[in-house]
Amino acid sequence: MDLAEGVLAGDRRAVARAISVVEGGGAAGAALVDRLYPRTGRAWRIGLTGPPGAGKSTLADRLIGHFRDAGQRVGVVAVDPSSPFTGGALLGDRVRMDERTAGEAGGVFIRSLAARGALGGLSEATEAVGDVLDAAGYDVVLIETVGVGQGEIDVAEAADTVVVVVVPESGDAVQAMKAGLMEIADVFAVNKAERPEAGRMVRALRQMLHLRPPPEDGWAVPVVKTSAVEGAGIGSLVAALEGHRAHLAARWDETRTARLRRRVRQLVEAGWRARFWDARRSALDAALAGLEAADRTPHRLAARLLEREGADREG
Ligand code: GDP
Repeated sequence: MDLAEGVLAGDRRAVARAISVVEGGGAAGAALVDRLYPRTGRAWRIGLTGPPGAGKSTLADRLIGHFRDAGQRVGVVAVDPSSPFTGGALLGDRVRMDERTAGEAGGVFIRSLAARGALGGLSEATEAVGDVLDAAGYDVVLIETVGVGQGEIDVAEAADTVVVVVVPESGDAVQAMKAGLMEIADVFAVNKAERPEAGRMVRALRQMLHLRPPPEDGWAVPVVKTSAVEGAGIGSLVAALEGHRAHLAARWDETRTARLRRRVRQLVEAGWRARFWDARRSALDAALAGLEAADRTPHRLAARLLEREGADREG
């Protein structure tokens, strides 16, 4: 049985190895994704993102509990875009969690992922790990990211349904991040909702959602209150998630095609950029060294290298 067959058979060790292969990128990773991709599309990929300490991991544990109780298998990918080499602080917690759940007949699989410079970046790596778990038969793939920057937003795009987790007192942070996060959120969870300011936060978010232009796909983003440590509000969160899933189900082919288009664009752009510079590393040095001061300007130099590109293609 080769690696792809092992994944398709749901073999845990094959899944672990396959994730390392796709995470590393390169030809082996690409070949494996191409074998598995046609067998994907069944798993529900749920992204959890938001500022550190908002309660994403605690909430993820609650969601895992919910899906396990419903008899579903859950894969968890913890992504730390700010930490290029390890899963950062996430890793320690997650490995402990994995040990705790490893006995459950493989019902939960947890893995952390870090930016390793694979072609297409962390977002493609996250998509590819999602493919492995999807092809292996996990019903739900939870993608947890730390932070609220562009990197996290890119990663969140690898999910079908994105939950943005905030806490009652993150009012200023929400103002600062609203542009990007408002666009990616399918559901807002105001966690630590046992705190008195929670109602104010919920109202502020609803107001912001109300003020923006109506979304093209017609989905009205729900704002739910949760208290992950107490286990309160998990039912409402799950109901909001299921609502979004039903909304997607009505346009599943479009959704899947849009994601595929985005992945292909990213891969083409990354591949094209790498090829361009492979061919012109020395051309740039030569241009920098050889030109008179008047021509040694950013735009003239860039134009020279780009013209070369045109000339090479014609010739
Ligand atoms: P993450 O960084 O977003 O993954 O946050 P964690 O899940 O690690 O939670 C950060 C801290 O907040 C931990 O000490 C949790 O126990 C705590 N926490 C999580 N959810 C709640 C909640 O609903 N209420 C309160 N009071 N604390 C919570």
